[in-house]
Amino acid sequence: MFSKALIALLAIGAQQAVAHPAFGHDLEGRSDAHHAPVISYADETGQSWGGLCKTGKRQSPIDLHTSLIGDKDAGLAELAGSNIKFSWPNQIANISNHGPAVYVEDISGSMTVASKKYNLKQFHFHTPSEHWIDSKTGAMEVHFVHLDENDATKPAVVGALIELADGKNTPNPVIETALKKVLSVPDQGNKTKTDEVQLTELAKFFASASFFTYDGSLTTPTPDCSEGVKWHVAKQRLYASKATLDNAAKIMKMNARWVTNQPSKDMHRGPYN
Ligand SMILES: [Zn+2]
Repeated sequence: MFSKALIALLAIGAQQAVAHPAFGHDLEGRSDAHHAPVISYADETGQSWGGLCKTGKRQSPIDLHTSLIGDKDAGLAELAGSNIKFSWPNQIANISNHGPAVYVEDISGSMTVASKKYNLKQFHFHTPSEHWIDSKTGAMEVHFVHLDENDATKPAVVGALIELADGKNTPNPVIETALKKVLSVPDQGNKTKTDEVQLTELAKFFASASFFTYDGSLTTPTPDCSEGVKWHVAKQRLYASKATLDNAAKIMKMNARWVTNQPSKDMHRGPYN
């Protein structure tokens, strides 16, 4: 649905890179968004970001191929959501523009997977999606970033691709509420309160979903496309209204890194290596 040429065109509007050394800043989500780095998507592969973004071998995002689930070399597995214990309370949060991604932060919650507990720090959005499923992109993607309760350098992310609600599928109320005020945070550093976000409802969706799981990386250079990220990307998609998708794209522009693998080949190559 999104050609590389279109994404490159969109990227012309992307903001320019400003280096920032604060490790973990974008992982945690913070109130001082005006100090957050601005990431350039002018090179959508992220190779120009340098470091592991350029040389890593387990980089994200990837094109998730159903046919490669269980393939040892691909490192791709499937996990039923019923194996994850979500504790996501309904709560009022802050929506904050980190430039170019919009975060919902100052939130609490946790998930337990494979006997490890991870604390929910923030969730944020990408337009269009970063992961692809069977070579198909989505209009948007949401990432729920959790950090290992015993080691905050070890993230586990729950993600889902988001599509336009088309009549058969209705907009997800949690995504709608989370992004309702996105137009109120047009610039980096802008922040405002959300209405109550019904995260418990969304946790039910994920608990009944099934996930592609793999070990990958952060998808931004903050910090350094770090690897060791436990990815859980839902096979089922979420849906949003046209207004929500339009408004989110208007504020975030193109903020999706290009997939780092070549479909049906090694799933964990660096960008275009
Ligand atoms: Zn993300």
